[in-house]
Amino acid sequence: MQLSELFLTLAGLATAGIILWNRSTGQPDWEALPTLLEYLRLHPECVTDDDENARCYACGSDKVLFHPLTGTGDYRLRHTCLSCGKALFRSSAIL
Ligand SMILES: [Zn+2]
Repeated sequence: MQLSELFLTLAGLATAGIILWNRSTGQPDWEALPTLLEYLRLHPECVTDDDENARCYACGSDKVLFHPLTGTGDYRLRHTCLSCGKALFRSSAIL
């Protein structure tokens, strides 16, 4: 193996390692949030007319907004209550 190939292999391994590391340690709290279905099972009183949204179980507000976890382009959406700021549930954007 030539030195340049060795270098490219190492660079590739390092990149893959960084991506995997980011996946495993990045934002574990998103994984901990329930999905909307799980959330509604836990808080059946939070069902609204909108079947893609729910009420806040903590304060009852229906002002629940979602935003990408880390910024534009992130498929992980976190739904939080606008009134009390609680993170309620998660969903994935369809890209
Ligand atoms: Zn709330």
